[in-house]
Amino acid sequence: MRDHVPTRSFRRVVVKLSGEALQGQAAHGLDAPTLARVASDLASAAENGYQIAVVVGGGNFFRGIKGADSGIERARADSIGMLATVMNGLALEQAIEMQGRQARCLSAVPMPAVCESFSRRAALHHLDKGRVVIAAGGTGNPFFTTDTGAVLRAAELSADAVLKATQVDGVYTADPKRDPSATRYERLTHDEAIAQNLAVMDTAAFALARENKIPIIVFSIGDPGAIASVLAGGGRSTLVAP
Ligand code: UDP
Repeated sequence: MRDHVPTRSFRRVVVKLSGEALQGQAAHGLDAPTLARVASDLASAAENGYQIAVVVGGGNFFRGIKGADSGIERARADSIGMLATVMNGLALEQAIEMQGRQARCLSAVPMPAVCESFSRRAALHHLDKGRVVIAAGGTGNPFFTTDTGAVLRAAELSADAVLKATQVDGVYTADPKRDPSATRYERLTHDEAIAQNLAVMDTAAFALARENKIPIIVFSIGDPGAIASVLAGGGRSTLVAP
């Protein structure tokens, strides 16, 4: 298979982890072995000299849209969702530190008793010190997702790419879990991803990435070492790039 990024020379990346990526086989919440495995992957990427910022989701605890469906007003439900991302961020911070690597959870929703607030300056400072930065709280605004938050952080931190971790090894023509004839795209443009309404990220995230020419690599977080493999240009993935 063709290596679609032959000269992958990343220095700084944003890894987007959904809440689901931390829940393992559990129906919701956090799964300790999964958390430890993902933390180990992130810590070793930082150990190898990459600057790693993680944007973490909250869907393993709460999603605003679902809360709104059950009668909580949307903006309020999204606040609950943002709090869920901070819970994951704090758990990930601890798990990375247990791997012997410093990490800092920075929240876009200020909660100084719990963690530092997100600012570009603070994030860059921690990255330069070799710490894994966990950007929690999404964009800090309702009606957005953490996918958009990931692209936003990538743009403001001048990251080389967003590594979008999912449960499958790329973007498919249809859901490969339901349709065995689905095939994986090796490469797509942002325009194609938007036009085809591919469910892997929301349109706002793709549009922001397109505007700022940020490549997105969609890969599976299921295997140990997945992040290192993507950083090295190996493994199966889909590249979304101009
Ligand atoms: N959220 C929000 N603004 C943001 C990012 C997230 O309001 O900028 C809320 C929203 O309710 C969302 C929830 O936080 O459903 C969890 O984020 P997301 O659904 O992106 O998590 P993931 O699917 O990646 O686990």
